[in-house]
Amino acid sequence: WGLWRWKALPPKMRELCRDRGIPVRDDYTLQAEPPAGREETVEIAGERTMEPDMAAQEPGGYDVDAIRRDFPILADIIYLDNAATSFSPEPVIAAMVEFEHRYRANVGRGVHRLTSIASHRYWHAHEKVAEFIGGKNGVTVFTKNTTESVNMVAQGLVWKTGDRVITTILEHHSNLLPWRRLARQGVATDSIGISPDYTLDLAALERAITESTRLVAVTQASNVLGVVTPVREIARICHGRGVLLLVDGAQAVPHLPVDVEELGCDFYCFSGHKMAGPTGTGVLWMKEPCIEPLVLGGGMVETVTADGYTPAQGYQQYEAGTPNIAGGIGLGVAVDYLQAIGMDRIHRYETDLTSRLIEMLSKNDRVRVYAPKDPAHRIGVVSFTVDGFHPHEVAQQIDEAADIMVRSGHHCCQPLVESLGLPGGTVRASLAFYNTRQEIDLLVATLDELTR
Ligand code: PLP
Repeated sequence: WGLWRWKALPPKMRELCRDRGIPVRDDYTLQAEPPAGREETVEIAGERTMEPDMAAQEPGGYDVDAIRRDFPILADIIYLDNAATSFSPEPVIAAMVEFEHRYRANVGRGVHRLTSIASHRYWHAHEKVAEFIGGKNGVTVFTKNTTESVNMVAQGLVWKTGDRVITTILEHHSNLLPWRRLARQGVATDSIGISPDYTLDLAALERAITESTRLVAVTQASNVLGVVTPVREIARICHGRGVLLLVDGAQAVPHLPVDVEELGCDFYCFSGHKMAGPTGTGVLWMKEPCIEPLVLGGGMVETVTADGYTPAQGYQQYEAGTPNIAGGIGLGVAVDYLQAIGMDRIHRYETDLTSRLIEMLSKNDRVRVYAPKDPAHRIGVVSFTVDGFHPHEVAQQIDEAADIMVRSGHHCCQPLVESLGLPGGTVRASLAFYNTRQEIDLLVATLDELTR
């Protein structure tokens, strides 16, 4: 990936400049002077590793302090809104700055040095993401976010009147509205409910599949209840009945080891910005590139003739126009970062934190927690309400009193919160791999104070 480049002109070009009268400085550079009083100090990522600074870590241990050093913002606040978006560690930010400072160029176009470096790194980020989710045999497309990924599938499949799509009550609006819109094309949607322990009613899903069912769209982990759905069993049911399966992995990829081939889905959608990657990044993984590209234009074609075109192969055909290059490269570094810690370890660590949070919250008799009992069926997304307070009041007061950031409201899951009898929604604390026990304890202490 060498960033070889000249600062002073090479001898041949010095001659050329002399012959043509092109002014160059005494040191044979063409660079403008930096503004007076400002030294040119460009810190770049290359000098440090892309891995978390965990040198001090004990073997097999989880050194959260070392991880937190890569997130300076955590020194000032207690951030428990990671389901909405997470923070990016320094190596991710440095990689994006490095792109801007050192080799910013468009990708997949031309042959010059900068475009080669940018194209390589952008392409390599796709490879890293594909490997991270066990999807090297499929097609990994970079998108803006989960929402765009789901819409690309809903709009990119060819439907016929009478087709049906099954979703569940757990779905985020982003995995609901794209299917509902298909009603215009004569496609109906069915919704599957949950059991009293918040787990998905698998028998109901099996019963709901008919001859007309084309696709099941289900979240792998709920962004309200934190419940994890049995995707492997759902895939087995779907494939036995010739039905496609789309999985919304927005809340799963940041917290669980994911292997899309093992899960057996046809489409897997998630957001880079919820897994330590930059905002404006997301992924659509497809087992087969079986959807029509939604957007056509530059960068997605092999050839264009007088009256036709041949689309490019692989992810390129789904990424028309100039993509979010810095974001894509940053996402690749986020994957390196998470892998260096290990998704298994992140999962174990967060499972402990989540159990502690649920247990401690449940001791306050004015707090009602909405979470599955079994730690094996949940991630670190914990919804609760506080008697006598609107969820927004709780969120605002604990921010003001203790710098604690949590989400409140319906979390873009209105049908679910309504079905739980909570029209005002819930308060939601959502964890990430950089949160600590002390932060959990402070949240609980602040809520105890509030209810006192
Ligand atoms: N699906 C789930 C389960 C989510 O939690 C979210 C966001 O919170 C989305 C989809 C939408 O993600 P994005 O806003 O990144 O498109």
